[in-house]
Amino acid sequence: MSKGITSKNDDYSQWYNDIVIKADLAEHSSVKGCMVIKPYGYSIWEKIQAVLDQKFKDTGHSNAYFPLFIPKSYFSKEAAHVEGFATECAVVTHYRLKNDGNGNIVVDETAKLEEELIVRPTSETIIWNTYRGWIESYRDLPLLINQWANVVRWEMRTRLFLRTTEFLWQEGHTAHATSQEAVEETERMLDVYADFAENWMAVPVVKGKKTPTERFAGALETYCIEALMQDGKALQAGTSHFLGQNFAKAFDVKFTSKEGKQEHVWATSWGVSTRLMGALIMAHSDDAGLVLPPKLAPIQVVIVPIYKGDEDLAKISTFVNELMMKLKGMGISVKYDSRDSQRPGFKFAEYELKGVPVRLAIGGRDMENGTVELARRDTREKATVPQEGLDIYIANLLNEIQENIYSRAHQFREEHITEANSYDEFKELLDGKTGFISAHWDGTAETEKQIKEETKATIRCIPLNNKQEEGVCILTGKPSIQRVLFARAY
Ligand code: AMP
Repeated sequence: MSKGITSKNDDYSQWYNDIVIKADLAEHSSVKGCMVIKPYGYSIWEKIQAVLDQKFKDTGHSNAYFPLFIPKSYFSKEAAHVEGFATECAVVTHYRLKNDGNGNIVVDETAKLEEELIVRPTSETIIWNTYRGWIESYRDLPLLINQWANVVRWEMRTRLFLRTTEFLWQEGHTAHATSQEAVEETERMLDVYADFAENWMAVPVVKGKKTPTERFAGALETYCIEALMQDGKALQAGTSHFLGQNFAKAFDVKFTSKEGKQEHVWATSWGVSTRLMGALIMAHSDDAGLVLPPKLAPIQVVIVPIYKGDEDLAKISTFVNELMMKLKGMGISVKYDSRDSQRPGFKFAEYELKGVPVRLAIGGRDMENGTVELARRDTREKATVPQEGLDIYIANLLNEIQENIYSRAHQFREEHITEANSYDEFKELLDGKTGFISAHWDGTAETEKQIKEETKATIRCIPLNNKQEEGVCILTGKPSIQRVLFARAY
C-alpha cells in the first residue's frame, strides 16, 4: 500500500481509480462521463501521439482536420452506420441562449437549427462527403488521411480513460481503387497498432477479426487488437475497419479507373483512443502505483539528492548536472528533484506512484565512494552502482526494463489463455481470473448472444493466426471449424 492505494487483489476497480487519481493522470469532471486529463496524464498521451503520428507518416499518411459537427442527414445516409450510433449521439438543436426576463438563461426557441447537427461520434460521413470533391480519377488514389480529434459517444457506463463520453483519438480514413488495396491497408494499420502496443506500450496483443455482431457499424470487416488486463479481463485496444464501398456508395464517391470506367471507391478507417492510457495503467501497475514502460515515460530517470547542507548539495549537484547532460545527450529524459520543501522519502513515494522507471538517490557518502543508489520501478530492486559509466548503465537498464515489463505481461497473457471444451468448463473458468478462453463456436449470432447473456463473456476475436481445428460448439454441440477467443471485457 502506498499513499492509500487500494490493493489490486482487494478491489481491482478501486485500485485502478486510485492510480489514475493519485498518480495525477486524470480526474472526473463536473460533466458526467467526461474527464479532465491532468498534465502528467496528458504528457503520456502526447508521447503516445508522437510515436503513432510518426508511424502513420512513415506509412504514407497525412494529417487533416474535419468539422466537429455532422449534419443529421449525412449521418442517415449509411443505414447500418446510423443504426449503430443512433443511441449514443449528442445532437445540437439550437444556436442561441436568451435571458427570459426573470434572470434565467434559457434556450432561445426562435434560434432553432434548420437541420440538427450531430457532435461526431466518428467522422466517416463528413469525411466521405468531403472526399466526393477530392477524388475524380485513379490518380487521386490512394488517399491516406489521418485526423487527431475528440469525439463524443453518449456512453451510459463510463470509466476514466477506458470509456468516456468525450474521448481523444486518431481516426484514419483512406480511399483506394481496389478492394485488395483497402484490405491490405486495413491489415497494415492493424500491424502498426500491434507493433505500437507491444514495442512501446509493452502490452502483448492478439490480432484478430471481430464477429459480424461486434463489427463497426457500416464495416464489412473489423480487425482488432485485444489485450489482457491483470484482472483477467480483456480490453479492445484498437480497431481497423474494411468498409468496402459502403460509404462511397452512400456519398456517391466514384473515380475513373485506368480503363476509363466509373467505379465506387474502396474505404478503410482505423482508430485508437485515450483508452490506450487505461491499457497502459492496467497492464503493468502494482500496489505502489503506476509502472510505465520507459519508452512512454515522460520522466525516465529521476535524481534525488540526499544532503545535509548547502555545501553537500553543491557537490552533489555538480555531479548530477554533468550526468544529466550526458543522459539528455542520449535522448533520455531526466529530472533532478532538489526541492528542499519535501523529504527524500516523500519524493521516492511520489515517483514510485508516478511510475518513473529509474530513480537515483545520491548522498554525501555516495560522493565519497563514487557510487549512487539506483532503484528500478518494475522490480522495485535497489542497487549501489558506480558513478563511472553510469550514463551507459542507465541507457542499458532502460532497455532491460522495457523488455522485462513486456515479458512479464506476455507471460501473464500466455498463462491466461485456456481452452474450454464444454459449456460447464467454460462457465467454471469464468468464475476465476481466467483471461481468454479459447473455445469452439458454431458461428451464429444467436449462440454468441446467448453466451453473452448467460455469462457476460463476449467473443473478443477470431485470431488471425488461428489454426483450423474441427470441433463442436460449446453451447449447441453443432460443428465448428475453429476456436475463437472469449473473455469478459472492459
Ligand atoms: P471504433 O470507432 O468503435 O472502432 O473505436 C475506435 C477506438 O476507440 C477503439 O480502439 C475503441 O476501443 C476506442 N473507443 C470506443 N469507444 C470509446 C470510449 N467511449 N472511450 C474511449 N475509447 C473508446
